[in-house]
Amino acid sequence: MGTTKKPLALIILSLVFVVTVLFLVNEYKSERSETAEAVYKETGELLDDVADEANRFGNERVGELELIAKYIAIVVDDKEELQSFLKKQNSKMPYFAGLGFISPDGEIMAADGSRFFVKERESFERAMSGHITTSELFTFEQNPELQVTAISVPVNKDGKVIGVLSGVFSMSEIIHRLVSDTSLLGTVYLIKDEQVVYTSGDEISEGDSTHKSKRILNEIAKSPSGVVVEDEKTAHYLFYKTAWNDWVTAVDSAGHPDMEKMSAKRWHYIFIVSLVLLTSIGSYLYMLRLEKRQQRAVRQDVLTQLGNHVKLEEDVNYYQRKKQKSCTIILINLREFKNINNWAGHEMGDYILMEVGKRLSDALVERHMTYRIGGGEFVVLLPGYRTRKQSEEITANLCELIQRPFEIVNHETVCLRVYAGIRNIDIKSKENAAKFIHDVVFACQEARRLTEVPYAYFTDELAHLDNERKLFVKELSDALNREEFKLFYQPIFSFQEDRIVSFESLLRWESPKLGMVSPLEFIPLLEESGMILEVGDWIIQEAALQVTKWRSEGFPELYVTVNVSVKQLLDESFISRVQDILLETKASPDSLVFEITESVVVEDSEKALQTVTKLNDLGISTALDDFGTGYSSLAILSLLPFQYLKVDRSFLDDLDGADSQAASVLRGIVSIASGLGQVTVMEGVETKEHLDVLKEIGADRIQGYYFSKPVPPNQAFKLL
Ligand code: C2E
Ligand code: CA
Ligand code: CA
Repeated sequence: MGTTKKPLALIILSLVFVVTVLFLVNEYKSERSETAEAVYKETGELLDDVADEANRFGNERVGELELIAKYIAIVVDDKEELQSFLKKQNSKMPYFAGLGFISPDGEIMAADGSRFFVKERESFERAMSGHITTSELFTFEQNPELQVTAISVPVNKDGKVIGVLSGVFSMSEIIHRLVSDTSLLGTVYLIKDEQVVYTSGDEISEGDSTHKSKRILNEIAKSPSGVVVEDEKTAHYLFYKTAWNDWVTAVDSAGHPDMEKMSAKRWHYIFIVSLVLLTSIGSYLYMLRLEKRQQRAVRQDVLTQLGNHVKLEEDVNYYQRKKQKSCTIILINLREFKNINNWAGHEMGDYILMEVGKRLSDALVERHMTYRIGGGEFVVLLPGYRTRKQSEEITANLCELIQRPFEIVNHETVCLRVYAGIRNIDIKSKENAAKFIHDVVFACQEARRLTEVPYAYFTDELAHLDNERKLFVKELSDALNREEFKLFYQPIFSFQEDRIVSFESLLRWESPKLGMVSPLEFIPLLEESGMILEVGDWIIQEAALQVTKWRSEGFPELYVTVNVSVKQLLDESFISRVQDILLETKASPDSLVFEITESVVVEDSEKALQTVTKLNDLGISTALDDFGTGYSSLAILSLLPFQYLKVDRSFLDDLDGADSQAASVLRGIVSIASGLGQVTVMEGVETKEHLDVLKEIGADRIQGYYFSKPVPPNQAFKLL
């Protein structure tokens, strides 16, 4: 993940969070205001119900009392009858706390037979003067706990008021009954004479109640509209209305369960918001972790878990640039590591790589870091200054450590050989990390050739050599286009036919700047850079044209051998390009023999077998070149279908006389080769003695300075 992605992701996550929060807040608000509206409506309706009921109750009672008063007028003289009538009526009307007839002198005959005197004088007198009256609140004498109101109706007989019928009731009890019948969603108050006489909120204490009453009365006094909005947020409203006999009914919506639910919901919403917030933060942290892991993966070698070349470059940079510290880079390369993969399989190869990594990491060097930067390439980075001698000692120890045997299955052991490069980096160096790594790789390549010690220290001379090498490579890369390459030919003599039967084509580079350069010097570079493919095609083409020309000039059986390098042989399109060249040059396939060096066959025998077989199918014969160098084994002879065996000239070094040991070895090789139907060619024959011995041994053909050095085509033709 790039660094630009991090803030972008942060912005997106924050945006998601903000949008979600806004949405939820909006959702919550609209739900709350809907609920508040419902509460408002419900509270108003409840108030209407309560007030209507109070009115209805009052009016109905007045009507009933008037009816009773009419009958009382009839029985008023018979005290007993009056008493029993009152009792009967009272039992029918449970809402009356008391029912009584008051005689003009103010004595009350109650329905239960007890006698009292008028308390509410004023309303009694008003009733005596012919009006239906309702009294103020007073304490009921029979039950001093009760606050009651009396409705008094005049009793008329013959057009004269003869007394008053009075019904006493507790309005608060009436309202209480009414309220308990309904599923009340607010607190109902009943107020009379600026005093709260009833409240349905029975859970509130007395102190609370008086406090509340005062507040309600205050509010009512302040707002004449009938609605007091106490708190819009919690939908706390106070509705009130004046009803029958100046009773004020009020409903308080505080603590409405729907609103309570809303506040519970608020927590619900807060929970969701927190969840979204946590998820956003979580995603971001997860992303950071993922990024870190990715970054680590980019810097890590999967197999050994060591740092890779990216990490190495970063670390070198870090020490040199940031910490301004000297350091030493040691590159250790496993010699012919590829062979282990080929021989023992990739699993074993991987195992050994891991073991090498472990050994280097656990090595008792100072504070050091270990990396694997390529197939068999390991690097140890040592921060701090040290002399060349110190660095070389450390490197020698590390090389020794890796060259100790590795135990593999069944107590078998494998030994590796290594070569190493060392680069000390001074604080003052102005080059960058990439250059230092390049230097150490160069030093390591140099070490490959050394025999005394397995390591090379990057010195000024090596730097100079490196520059020369670069210049050389630059010249080399232009050589083909500038037509600086030539093919020389060296004759191959047949004992049996007693004449030159073929030529080996050998590449020459005549550089105007560098002079005549040996193929031993530049062919490895062509191979390294891949240029060998293009140059190789040119060589085959040139040789094919030459041999075709010679054949047409009177030597129809002549053939030319062409050296083919590893890179060419392992290239996928090699065979098809050879076919193309044969077509273009009209050369006969039997006029060419491809020489393949022994080490290629050892390195990748399977692939070599495939290509050699395909070449044979095309009609091109093959020769095993440089036999006896490297991993010479007689078994290799039968491995691939070669028609020729070119024995390396090193065999001739110890060849003095036909009875020498070297002679018997050669005799053995010749006999095995002929047994396999292969023609033997002895390379590097320089003397008459060699010639004689080889003839005696039974070698088929010989090649060497004895006959001729490699020469340009026109001279070669003369030799024929
Ligand atoms: P090689 O294939 O073993 O070639 C034989 C080398 O031995 C040639 O060296 C040749 O000049 C040298 N030689 C021949 N007779 C004698 C002798 O009597 N005494 C001594 N001391 N040396 C003798 P040259 O031409 O310098 O080539 C060196 C190597 O470069 C070749 O070894 C071959 O591996 C490679 N090479 C040369 N030309 C080509 C080419 O066209 N393509 C490829 N891929 N490699 C080539
Ligand atoms: Ca050769
Ligand atoms: Ca050779």
